Amino acid sequence: MNKKKVIIIGAGIAGLSAGCYLQMNGYETEIFEAHNIPGGLCTGWNRKGYFIEGCIHGLLGSNPTHPLYKLWNELIDMDKLEFVNPDIKHLYLFEDRKFTQYANLDRLQKNMLEIAPEDKKTIEEFIRDTKKFQSFQMSYDKPKEFFDFPGKIKMLKALPLVFVMKKWINVSAEDFSNRFKNPLIQSVVKHFASPILFEMFVLSEMDLKRCGYPTIGSLKFSKLFENKYLECGGNIHYKSKVSKIIIENDKAVGIILRDGEQHDANIIVSATDGKTTIYDLLDGKYTSETIKKEYKKADLNPSKIQISLGISNTFDDWPHTVKIVLPSLYTISDGSKYKSFDILIYNDVEGLAPENKTLMAIQLDTKNGEYWFTLRDKDKEKYRTEKEKIVEDLINILDRRIGGITGNIEMIDVATPATYIRYTGNWRGSIQGWANENIFKSNPFKKELPGLENFFMMGQWVEPGGGIPNVFKSGRDLAQIICKRDRKKFKVNQ
Ligand SMILES: Cc1cc2nc3c(=O)[nH]c(=O)nc-3n(C[C@H](O)[C@H](O)[C@H](O)COP(=O)(O)OP(=O)(O)OC[C@H]3O[C@@H](n4cnc5c(N)ncnc54)[C@H](O)[C@@H]3O)c2cc1C
Repeated sequence: MNKKKVIIIGAGIAGLSAGCYLQMNGYETEIFEAHNIPGGLCTGWNRKGYFIEGCIHGLLGSNPTHPLYKLWNELIDMDKLEFVNPDIKHLYLFEDRKFTQYANLDRLQKNMLEIAPEDKKTIEEFIRDTKKFQSFQMSYDKPKEFFDFPGKIKMLKALPLVFVMKKWINVSAEDFSNRFKNPLIQSVVKHFASPILFEMFVLSEMDLKRCGYPTIGSLKFSKLFENKYLECGGNIHYKSKVSKIIIENDKAVGIILRDGEQHDANIIVSATDGKTTIYDLLDGKYTSETIKKEYKKADLNPSKIQISLGISNTFDDWPHTVKIVLPSLYTISDGSKYKSFDILIYNDVEGLAPENKTLMAIQLDTKNGEYWFTLRDKDKEKYRTEKEKIVEDLINILDRRIGGITGNIEMIDVATPATYIRYTGNWRGSIQGWANENIFKSNPFKKELPGLENFFMMGQWVEPGGGIPNVFKSGRDLAQIICKRDRKKFKVNQ
């Protein structure tokens, strides 16, 4: 019997994951990728003797006690990977004060109580509720599309967690900070992730050491998925940008590449940017009022400006992540304003910098991705000078707060939203698709489009909040959905 053929657009983690599981289940798949390497956003690059980490800070499921670990192991050998789990989530650096936010919740509580005994009740409530996240294990095994009655009953066990989530989902960092009397703790909490629920979620996993940094780095991590896909018999075409999806009688039947080449298949899967897929590859012919509304609203996860510095100096006494809190708002040319920013100091990972040297990355979130893309397109000189201005400002700040920077810089690399758009095609350079807040709404971003058969979308544009675990699961889920339609038992061979 001839195998069903599936074409997958995009070799990010989502596309590679779908490809692996479909191959394991007897489908003949081909991936068409615009870039010349796998991984999409999950990447890194060489620059003047340094290797720039372009993606992962923390990978959920990095510890065998997390249910995702078993799933990761279906495609990659997790036991062979090493993960760094920092003891400190953030060192908060104010002009004249510091605060260590430990990743261990008991230690964090002790530290907060020592500084602010007057805030005992609020501190204990925060830590207690954060620990409640640890008591419920999400089930990752089945797609949400299969949510049957037993599944719903199982979810009842999660009711206590639902109450905690409801309690914190609408509490902003600013509002929460006002509950504290101690001025230092108040200033720290103001800079927590907002809503506070997100801070709690990350802390709860860091405490259990279940979202570590894989020391092989993001690009090699992606290549493990590429290897698995090739081992399963898959076929990847690099430098093969898809420009149209061919439709016949409201059925997807093939793709057209930028150079005009056509390829046919029984099923087409888009594992790439949602807006491009719906409005360019499919000419906006398969939408609904909900889709139009959501794409018009454009409630996206931000993009980033990442400044990576290669410094001929060591910073052994510094933790991995430092939050520099600014005395006044810092505004950049795209209109974004910052009251703080994060610096990642890779002194705990080998291979990113030459010996006795350090790779540092400064990250600024921006929602104004189009500004950078247009600027780079229309006025390269201004694009360059604006990047230089930000680099100069931030280095001055780093020199004052950390020291040992100026005079020791031997590499500067700046990625802007224009970089993410050029290399991955993600709308406005969003690094995780739809905004995190959408995770808690009933998901309007479905894997199928109204009126179109034999076509699926997957990856971060149908899994709000994005992130590598989410898009990996999106690929696995899709393979299960396709198997079920074809009355095949979903199987996983390792
Ligand atoms: C700086 C940064 C930090 C991050 N930190 C974390 C983290 O710590 N933990 C975490 O879990 N997640 C993190 N993420 C998010 C995570 O990387 C993404 O959510 C995830 O990798 C998205 O995967 P994807 O496969 O859905 O999409 P993508 O990675 O965008 O893959 C889409 C692929 O499609 C290709 N493509 C686009 N258009 C076409 C076309 N027309 N034809 C053919 N191919 C095309 C692209 O080149 C790309 O390879 C981070 C991202 C960034 C950028």
